[in-house]
Amino acid sequence: MTLLGRRGISRREFLKFCTATAAVLALPVGKVSQVMAALEGARRPPVVWLEFQDCAGCTESFLRASRPTVAEIVLDVLSVDYHETIMAAAGKQAEEAKAATIEAGGHLVIVEGSIPTKDNGLYCTIGGRTAVDLLGEATRNAVAVIAVGSCAAFGGIPAASPNPTGAIGVRDLVGHIPVVNLPGCPVNVVNLTATVVHYLTFGSLPTLDDLGRPLFAYGKRIHDNCERRAHFDAGQFVEAWGDEGHRLGWCLYKMGCKGPET
Ligand code: SF4
Repeated sequence: MTLLGRRGISRREFLKFCTATAAVLALPVGKVSQVMAALEGARRPPVVWLEFQDCAGCTESFLRASRPTVAEIVLDVLSVDYHETIMAAAGKQAEEAKAATIEAGGHLVIVEGSIPTKDNGLYCTIGGRTAVDLLGEATRNAVAVIAVGSCAAFGGIPAASPNPTGAIGVRDLVGHIPVVNLPGCPVNVVNLTATVVHYLTFGSLPTLDDLGRPLFAYGKRIHDNCERRAHFDAGQFVEAWGDEGHRLGWCLYKMGCKGPET
């Protein structure tokens, strides 16, 4: 029995998952079998998942996705060697697992939360070591970093003015390996899964935009596909909640819609 079978995931559920993920990546139908083969393969890339200035919301969304959960699939195809929230090991045993993974190299690093840099980074320390130090160590021999959530990508809420801890995103610190940004609060786990599946299937990361975001997920604005767009183009705007334009489904731009920038 396969690993997925032992977790109670049927072949049909697995096929649906692979088809949906291929669709997210905008892959042609013919690539679904390639995605399935990659996920069924024995290769399990090691992952070190670090949490810094965060609320663990990205981890929560990862663990609570719909069935078959993203976690069920991804935890079977990845070897999550270190994750403070979900790993069974603790203390010295956990640190040894992380050290062994980093030493072996070739792993993925997933980062959740921003990194404080003010006052030598003392506002986030784990085991007496700063987030700056831990991130530098974890990425030394890694192949790439996936920064999940707005905090890891761009600093997020901790970086809001006056940014008392000097919080920054991963890309401001890591320049020697690719960094994929998956902003969102929390991260959209479908985008995380699709990024991982792309890496497993093709051995490379998806194409990124100038901000390090995968084009498959961030290449279009909500404004581009909004059902109210025709009203925007026609200059038909809601001027007040409950007015005739509101009842007729006109554009919400004047009411504060951020669709053109989102
Ligand atoms: S401004 Fe907002 S409501 Fe109007 S078309 Fe764009 S996304 Fe839709």
